[in-house]
Amino acid sequence: TFILGIETSCDETAVAIVKNGKEIISNVVASQIESHKRFGGVVPEIASRHHVEQITVVLEEAFTDAELTWDSIDAIAVTEGPGLVGALLVGVNAAKALAFAKQKPLIGVHHIAGHIYANRLQNEFEFPLLALIVSGGHTELVLMNEHGKYELLGETRDDAAGEAYDKVARMLELPYPGGPQIDRLAKSGEVTIDFPRAWLEQGSYDFSFSGLKSSVINTIHNAKQRGELLSNEDIAASFQESVIDVLTTKTVNAAKEFQVKQVIVAGGVAANQGLRSALEEQFNQLNIPLLIPPLHLCTDNAAMIAAAGTIAYEQGRRSGMDLNANGSLLMK
Ligand code: ATP
Ligand code: FE
Ligand code: MG
Repeated sequence: TFILGIETSCDETAVAIVKNGKEIISNVVASQIESHKRFGGVVPEIASRHHVEQITVVLEEAFTDAELTWDSIDAIAVTEGPGLVGALLVGVNAAKALAFAKQKPLIGVHHIAGHIYANRLQNEFEFPLLALIVSGGHTELVLMNEHGKYELLGETRDDAAGEAYDKVARMLELPYPGGPQIDRLAKSGEVTIDFPRAWLEQGSYDFSFSGLKSSVINTIHNAKQRGELLSNEDIAASFQESVIDVLTTKTVNAAKEFQVKQVIVAGGVAANQGLRSALEEQFNQLNIPLLIPPLHLCTDNAAMIAAAGTIAYEQGRRSGMDLNANGSLLMK
């Protein structure tokens, strides 16, 4: 099977073609980061307009790269949510128009299911499987006992991990997106500040990062008032240590409790070098296989949507022409 994937939930316009849910035939991503940089974050209206301008160009490039025609395509998978509604609508409407014009089945895909299935482009899944999703909008632990079924074990109660990175980066006056910048600084810094860790209730798999964020703000503020000099590197290293400690500990606890056969990390923050090495160390010791996608599959792309869409296609799930963008779509 060849599935065409379309992703426009945030600030990348992406189209990909994936074979059998595992093999990338083409994977085109047009990023808008440059346009949003000067605003320090994604501006929804600008994102929508860029998607409209880019979608046909990216679509054509995906077919050119693949050296395929529409005849080979079995179905069209598109991100229906969650994300920015105006951005999602561009992808959903493009997918509906194409499904109608080319007479192909249409499949709505959950963006986070996509992030999880980015891993299947590298390795076959083994269940039960634990997925840690850490992105700009999500921090979740999801348990999977079979393909296409997701059980939410815990999620953030306030900021997402990526959001915390971006906000702290802003305080340090680093360019957007801040995650990679903090990661880079942390490498040359030392953990000199003991920032708080939000463990929450005993046994909880939920997360909270807003207290940590406030603590970083206060620390910077107080140091300034006292005329002390704190290095950005040390702040970055200390902040990152706190984030990684909580993410790693909760993931390890869940992996043990549910005796999973695999642990998957997904979402933009999975690109974080510090997080990757901390998880690798822990799961090596436990002898549980850890899958982390290569960097370009960690951030938003359409190959992951096509990969998740392939499972839905094989399971006979279809969307109708009434498919709509849903900014706060839940996982089911
Ligand atoms: P969502 O997937 O939840 O809708 P999103 O699409 O904005 O949100 P992604 O594109 O998956 O999220 O990831 C972007 C986020 O990942 C940003 O917050 C960015 O700062 C963060 N990020 C990227 N690289 C790194 C890194 N090396 N370390 C930490 N964070 C990073
Ligand atoms: Fe994403
Ligand atoms: Mg993004």
